[in-house]
Amino acid sequence: MSFNTHSMTNIFWPVGGGDEIGASSYFLQLEDQKILLDAGVRFQDELAYPEYEILYQNNVLDGLWELSAILLSHAHLDHTGCLPWVAQHAGGVPIYATAATLDLLSLLLNNAREESIACTDYKKDLLEQAIAKTNIVKPFEPFWINDIQVTFFPSGHILGACAIFLETKDLHVLFTGDFTNFDQCTALALDLPDHLQVDVLITESTYGYSNRVAPSQVDTERLVLVRNIAHVLEHGKVLIPAFAIGRSQEIARVLAEAMLAGSLSPCSVYVAGLAIQASDIYEKYGIPIFNEHIQRAPPDFYQHVESFHGIILCSSGMLKENTFSAKYAQKMLSDPQSAIFFTGYLDEESPGKRLNALKEHQGKKFYIQNTDVLVQANISTFQLSAHTDCQGIRRLIQKYKPKKVIFVHGFPKNGGRTNIFYQTLEEFGSEIDIYQACNGNPIVL
Ligand SMILES: [Zn+2]
Ligand SMILES: [Zn+2]
Repeated sequence: MSFNTHSMTNIFWPVGGGDEIGASSYFLQLEDQKILLDAGVRFQDELAYPEYEILYQNNVLDGLWELSAILLSHAHLDHTGCLPWVAQHAGGVPIYATAATLDLLSLLLNNAREESIACTDYKKDLLEQAIAKTNIVKPFEPFWINDIQVTFFPSGHILGACAIFLETKDLHVLFTGDFTNFDQCTALALDLPDHLQVDVLITESTYGYSNRVAPSQVDTERLVLVRNIAHVLEHGKVLIPAFAIGRSQEIARVLAEAMLAGSLSPCSVYVAGLAIQASDIYEKYGIPIFNEHIQRAPPDFYQHVESFHGIILCSSGMLKENTFSAKYAQKMLSDPQSAIFFTGYLDEESPGKRLNALKEHQGKKFYIQNTDVLVQANISTFQLSAHTDCQGIRRLIQKYKPKKVIFVHGFPKNGGRTNIFYQTLEEFGSEIDIYQACNGNPIVL
């Protein structure tokens, strides 16, 4: 069935990342301009890309080459993973991103396997072409895409991440991307002007449907993590599997600050794998990561890890096979003196999730790197969020009182007692139109 778009000027159409976390990509038609927000992939091998065909089947687009622009909120692969493919099909369509996002996404896409993304069926030259088509955006500095004024505002989350504000003469749309409403060690909180007229708010809802962590608890969780690390280091070593971008640097800063404050005795922290280059990019943008204690792992470190006494920080965060963290985990799992501490998102199907499920069952075997290893090490999880929670989203709605709110980038199917959609409906339902985005279903703005 074809969707008649001729009679309507403003449409939001999620083709991925609507009611899921992964493959974020949202088509936005504002008057006669056609914009794509983000171009991400899913973490699973199958159906990794957003479903752009929906747009062709409904005669909204004949091809991605009809777009006016592609705007990228931040570098994480669930927002940029299919950019080379999209850019190839979009021909000369300009791409816009911050300089840090561009640096980080080039690193990530060149090393997608290490960061747990399976679909890398593009050639390196496609990535280079996509990079060549990217215009660098400075936060707070408006620019024009034909009749639309666009401004990027820092959104916290990770280095370079931004919320995107689009203004036509009749409609103002704010897309938050992934955001934090609290300061992290490596990225300050979402930074929007107080007086912004927002008609449509498209907001992430990662923790909109789970009780996982309240940002107010993150400080406490950091302290608990440090205390646990200090305890393990009395006799063993700690592996922290972490996403190469964002989480690795945040943990490195948490450890550096703990050593400075005296809550952690000075110890060796080795950053390994892709996190090294990602940390170099953070340093390029003025965020110090390395110091006398926090160092790049030497090239032959893997051979000598048994005699190492300290902390290893490396990706993948989910212990995907053949990554640095999986290799170190294989060596450390059977050591009862050592520990593996997870601090981030674990995909349902990931080895990290399976191992985490064994944490109460020491002595069980865990299959990793083609071997069965006896689990004797301490396995624990710490919730250091890089996303806002329900309260943060509701504060944002309260502050800008948009006419419409659309929730994306969440797990509405998991909604139990925490349910941002119903909570928002209850609080603002009489004043605001509230939508839960669903892949493939358009919302008229
Ligand atoms: Zn992200
Ligand atoms: Zn995301």
